[in-house]
Amino acid sequence: RAKSAGGNRFELADPEADARAITRHGLTTALPTALERGEFFIEYQPLVHLGDGSVRGAEALVRWLHPQHGVLGPDRFIPLAEHTGLIVPLGRWVLEQSVRQAREWRELQGGAEVVGPLRINVNLSPCQLTHPGLVQDTVDILERTGVEPDALCLEVTESALIGADDDLLKPLRRLAEMGVDIALDDFGTGYSNLANLRRLPVSILKLDRSFTQSMQQFPADPVDVKIVEGIVSLAHSLDLAVTVEGVETGAQAEQLRVLGCDTAQGWYYARPGPPERLHELALVDATG
Ligand code: C2E
Ligand code: MG
Ligand code: MG
Ligand code: MG
Repeated sequence: RAKSAGGNRFELADPEADARAITRHGLTTALPTALERGEFFIEYQPLVHLGDGSVRGAEALVRWLHPQHGVLGPDRFIPLAEHTGLIVPLGRWVLEQSVRQAREWRELQGGAEVVGPLRINVNLSPCQLTHPGLVQDTVDILERTGVEPDALCLEVTESALIGADDDLLKPLRRLAEMGVDIALDDFGTGYSNLANLRRLPVSILKLDRSFTQSMQQFPADPVDVKIVEGIVSLAHSLDLAVTVEGVETGAQAEQLRVLGCDTAQGWYYARPGPPERLHELALVDATG
């Protein structure tokens, strides 16, 4: 099949682009009922304290077990879910499942608990931020599950909050006042005004993986070191904790620890996995 590209010029159709469009169309069609069919599941990736290596909690990462295509990562379907509006019920489902899971871990932890009960991080899409039910849904879920607000951290990307007006920040402020932590995800990629941080009801910066990657070499590029140092010192002076994502090697972990980062997440510690795995890791860690 050839497409006319105007005039006498002809362009061959790109079969891969066609396949992608067909898949995207198929996924978009299957998406609305996937939630009812129970095709989504959540993997958990530990959040590790850089000072003592203990597991402090986990980030919930959603996956879609598609009947034909197998396991799909969020990058394949979250944008479609945002486009079709499914993100609101899907996000609510992820939140409820994750908070329930956190309660279960906390119950299982029992006496082995040495560093405090495990906490749970859940990603929020910008569409959920503008949805009027966000605060009430969150309150309801915490009440239904009997989990304290301070066990929960909601992750919002820096780009979702760039230029955010007060209306957008209001629900986040309410949640923060209740004791829910708000983390600024993928920090450092959005070119936001650093002074803007003061306005945002956030208590955690999640430094984007690109910074972690630049700590691959030892010693790392001195300019990157200075940038991370600057971010960490600014964050700490504003009472924000710093989490680093995408830590794949011990050298990265060590350099980021020395630079003052508080918490780390990445394949070096564990890939995202089933909830039992997280519990095992936390337990091993607590009991030595
Ligand atoms: P994110 O929130 O920045 O999550 C971190 C991503 O980095 C995850 O990708 C995780 O699997 C991956 N990762 C963790 N450690 C490493 C590492 O050491 N190396 C490398 N290369 N990657 C690592 P994943 O699971 O594919 O999720 C991608 C994005 O999808 C997330 O980025 C988040 O923005 C979004 N997402 C995931 N779950 C949800 C959800 O429930 N709701 C919403 N709205 N978005 C979600
Ligand atoms: Mg995240
Ligand atoms: Mg992130
Ligand atoms: Mg990221």
